[in-house]
Amino acid sequence: MKKIGIDLGGTAIKGGRFGERGQLVAEFSIPTPARAGRMPIFQALFCAIDKLWTEDTGLIGISSAGDIDPVNGVCVHATDNLMGWTGADICGEVERRYHVRCIADNDAVSALKGELAFYPKAENVTMLTFGTGLGGASLVNGQILRGARFDAARWGHTVLVPHGLRCNCGKRGCAEAYLSATALVKQGQKRMLGLVDCKQLFDRAASGEAEAVDVIHRFEDYLAILIDNVRTVLAPEYIILGGGVTKSAAVMQEIIGGAKDVVLARRGALAGVYGAIVERL
Ligand SMILES: [Zn+2]
Repeated sequence: MKKIGIDLGGTAIKGGRFGERGQLVAEFSIPTPARAGRMPIFQALFCAIDKLWTEDTGLIGISSAGDIDPVNGVCVHATDNLMGWTGADICGEVERRYHVRCIADNDAVSALKGELAFYPKAENVTMLTFGTGLGGASLVNGQILRGARFDAARWGHTVLVPHGLRCNCGKRGCAEAYLSATALVKQGQKRMLGLVDCKQLFDRAASGEAEAVDVIHRFEDYLAILIDNVRTVLAPEYIILGGGVTKSAAVMQEIIGGAKDVVLARRGALAGVYGAIVERL
């Protein structure tokens, strides 16, 4: 069966078409109109699906930011990283338009499901995705941790700093406000002229620019706390780091150091696209 996997994030909608043997045969990406409201987000999503569509498509999988009810394919709650997305009937809208089955799940859960292909024996794995936000998902004793409102294991919204920076979820001091790609660039921009993105920040740190090095050191400190919290609570076999920030794989590898239980997502920033079509609940 041919499948389409879409990763709907706060910055971009990335999609892939998969062939009969699960191989990625085409990719497409467009910016997310994240602040424009629900209908424009759906229109952009449909645009991405249209580009990847072939008549023999049998399944569309959507990996979306926000708390997603995977049984009904509905977004139960989303922060302002996707404005108006709370209540979106993702699978209902997709199925009405394309007349094929749709599955949907949270983006970090999808990334986790995608990466689990590389760890077939593991029963305890946590995924952290560093993008517009900081996504989290955990496999515990072979089951994906869901919680009562589909918002369990949201490691990005565990508080690291009392009275700290305001987070998109409304709380202060969340890990997301310090460790997401957005947060990293924002902190860099406060101190460095002309900084555009994370890659540039990592490059400037690598070339020894003191302000950049300092921002990265703080990132390492907060990341170390978060990883320690995950280890303490769940004692997983692996903690997988994914998302846009990990595109600078060399730097992330250095940050991880010799820790054997912390690994980079094998599919990098495409983990969610692959995981979107994995039908495990
Ligand atoms: Zn938060």
